Amino acid sequence: RICVGVLALQGGFHEHLSLLHQAAQHLKSLPADFSFTQVRTSEQLAACDALIIPGGESTTISLIAAQTDLLQNLRDFVKVQKKPTWGTCAGFILLSQRANATKKGGQELIGGLDVCVHRNHFGRQIESFEADLDLPFIPSSSEKEGERRPFRGVFIRAPVVEEVLGGDSVEVLATLENRVDRMRAGQSQAQTRGGSGDIIAARQGNVLGMSFHPELTQDARIHQWWLSEVVARR
Ligand code: GLN
Repeated sequence: RICVGVLALQGGFHEHLSLLHQAAQHLKSLPADFSFTQVRTSEQLAACDALIIPGGESTTISLIAAQTDLLQNLRDFVKVQKKPTWGTCAGFILLSQRANATKKGGQELIGGLDVCVHRNHFGRQIESFEADLDLPFIPSSSEKEGERRPFRGVFIRAPVVEEVLGGDSVEVLATLENRVDRMRAGQSQAQTRGGSGDIIAARQGNVLGMSFHPELTQDARIHQWWLSEVVARR
């Protein structure tokens, strides 16, 4: 049995858990049985084989985790035990080695992904946007052979990778070049947010980060893919 935890200090943990359950339904053929659980303490973390850190507010999450030994144990989970860990938005920031300081100052990070992220890259809350993404790593739609259904990327005060520090060991999984709605809507680059080179998904070994919020969609394909990666890494 594989125990997958979702860090439940703040942010979209309920949403991640519901998509994990949905994804597991699709993975019935995998030779694995999953249990999903909320993680608020170091004891709960110790029971997990893999972890999701949700979107929300990274400073808040790290301040809460630092009140106990949880922050240190998260670092150990990711960097020493090297268990599969996936962060979305604020979770991505926390898993980065560095985040550029904002006016209000920085926060303590977990690290593990050798990148420097730029927090709130696209601006403030009001500048949030959604974009259709073509993500080559998720299972293609079964509806039509060979045709991939785009994934709706929800970007809310989203970070992007400003600098890859880790060289070849960091895999770029998607940039805004994977955005497919721009041309479809006939919009120019200037009318849509972000430069096409902006890195919005990256992986280094056991650590995965994404700028957007799959947990705020009803689409479990990324969760499905990640769970099968978790099984494969066992
Ligand atoms: N920009 C936020 C932060 O710094 C993350 C936003 C989000 O997770 N939607 O934590």
